[in-house]
Amino acid sequence: MSSDYFSHLTEEEKNILKHKGTESPFSGEYNDFYKSGIFVCRACNSPLYQSKSKFDSGCGWPSFDDEIPGAIERFRDTSLGRVRTEICCVNCGGHLGHVFVGEKFTDKNVRHCVNSLSIRFVDHQKLQQIIFGGENLWFFQKKFKELDGVYLCKVNKVKKTIFDHIEFINKTNVNFLKFYFNSKKTTLETILNIFLKIYASTNFLKKNTNRLLILCNDKKQKLTIENLMLQKNKILKNPIFSNILLYEDNV
Ligand SMILES: [Zn+2]
Repeated sequence: MSSDYFSHLTEEEKNILKHKGTESPFSGEYNDFYKSGIFVCRACNSPLYQSKSKFDSGCGWPSFDDEIPGAIERFRDTSLGRVRTEICCVNCGGHLGHVFVGEKFTDKNVRHCVNSLSIRFVDHQKLQQIIFGGENLWFFQKKFKELDGVYLCKVNKVKKTIFDHIEFINKTNVNFLKFYFNSKKTTLETILNIFLKIYASTNFLKKNTNRLLILCNDKKQKLTIENLMLQKNKILKNPIFSNILLYEDNV
């Protein structure tokens, strides 16, 4: 747990995120709150939950039945004379609350019981998700992680069905680079410029396997990327054949 992440917090927030306190039930600003967006860690801004996972359990704290993959860490908690599972932010270690399984509130049968003071709501316009599909994206992961306002940047293996109608030379080597970014800190154009600059300089183009997949989480983002790709391809010696698709589910 790095103390830097907590230095900007109020005493109330610190009491929960750093010292594992609990806010009073029905007191938090997100207990009865259902706008569309993403909930990030109040200490480090890392995305934790999507609003579509939020539900009303009636318990008095914000409840979620799923987390953003890779965002939450679980710990055995034996305080208060019972065994519970504590949940913390993976990035900064900040305490969020506890997770309960088997209560049958939703189909997923999971309830993340989270303190409002541990999280902050960000609407979708400010925090976007983007997914690049291609070959050998590990190097890009390292580059994008260094950018300001980029969160949960990770290369994943993917469901191969997504590539069924896309002509990659070697589908077995294809993977996804997925991350969230705050467009006020790093713009979509900057991200695309960095990506294409590295992509165009790799050996893949020389082998004529320059096919790229970009999965967008909204129509506006898709349109912006299509326009940027058009402009880029006008100046590239070997145009990049990209498939830009709308894809809203987690992959
Ligand atoms: Zn955090």
